[in-house]
Amino acid sequence: MPGPNHNKPDLRDLTAEGVQDLLVGLGEKPFRARQVLQWLYKHGARDFGQMSSLGKDLRARLASVARLQDLEPAQVQTAADGTRKMLFNLADGSAVESVLIPEAEHSTLCVSSQVGCRRACAFCATAGLGFRRNLSPAEVLGQVLAARRLAEADKPLTNLVFMGMGEPLDNLDNLLIALQHILGDHGLQMSQRKVTVSTAGRVDRLAALGRATPAALAVSFNAPNDALRDELMPINRKWNLAALKKTLMAYPLKPTRRITLEYVLLGGVNDRAEHAAQLAAWTKGLKCKVNLIAFNPHPGAAFSAPEPATVQAFQQELIDRHITALLRQSRGADIDAACGQLAAKEAGEETGS
Ligand code: SF4
Repeated sequence: MPGPNHNKPDLRDLTAEGVQDLLVGLGEKPFRARQVLQWLYKHGARDFGQMSSLGKDLRARLASVARLQDLEPAQVQTAADGTRKMLFNLADGSAVESVLIPEAEHSTLCVSSQVGCRRACAFCATAGLGFRRNLSPAEVLGQVLAARRLAEADKPLTNLVFMGMGEPLDNLDNLLIALQHILGDHGLQMSQRKVTVSTAGRVDRLAALGRATPAALAVSFNAPNDALRDELMPINRKWNLAALKKTLMAYPLKPTRRITLEYVLLGGVNDRAEHAAQLAAWTKGLKCKVNLIAFNPHPGAAFSAPEPATVQAFQQELIDRHITALLRQSRGADIDAACGQLAAKEAGEETGS
């Protein structure tokens, strides 16, 4: 088999309209696009040969103008709690990870949007990689399709969180193409309530995100005052908490929807009662809920996990101030798959688990 021709577009890098344009360009009727899209997303075709309803001639012509990249994990590690971390080696030699988390009746995938990240959050293992490049739509969708194949039959993949490696809004164009296929009728048909984009606070792109997609929104929050947030999340030096609040207040939300604020509790750093009080005050007027996650130390991390009693007390402080605050269990810590631990070690390298 010849290697992939990177001058040809990958079909999964194209919007639905782009696929239609390609087929019309081949002299086909527009309805053919629907068939191709169904092969790509409903059936998860892994090569042109599987698109049996298209006819051999059309498949050959399609393959002459486009390629189809398939992602298969080079390594899958399973944690004691059933969480599975997939490592994908990409065509250019870089690698990303995503994490498949089984729940009672469904699975959730934590998806990566970039190789590395430029946002340098102090508590995050991905930050240590620096920024390498954006993932293409096909590479984002490839993680989702691979996870759908891997999910157990009684726990199908229904939920996605863009909380893996990377800041999704730093790769907004590609993210939006992927979301079109993840949410669309022609695509994976996932529920807009069950697909969450999480940002560290890329304020200048939030409005564009809200206009373009009905996916749920989460903000990686982590510090309730600018001094601390500047330290933990350098993005705050550019867009501070006041700017973030103003933008979130204007974010288009359906009546029953709320923004999720993710708050990783770092032992002795952001876990005091006064921080809970500041957080509660900051949320005033904002339709939101808070997810609290105890920090998972990773090798080289400068932070420690909070005491369980401190976590409880922090949650209670929020509840007493009428804030919905849920304690989320971080999953897969024994294989470095928990929140903030993704660093895409090469397949075969020791993971320390
Ligand atoms: S927490 Fe998210 S935004 Fe911050 S460095 Fe890690 S991957 Fe990037």
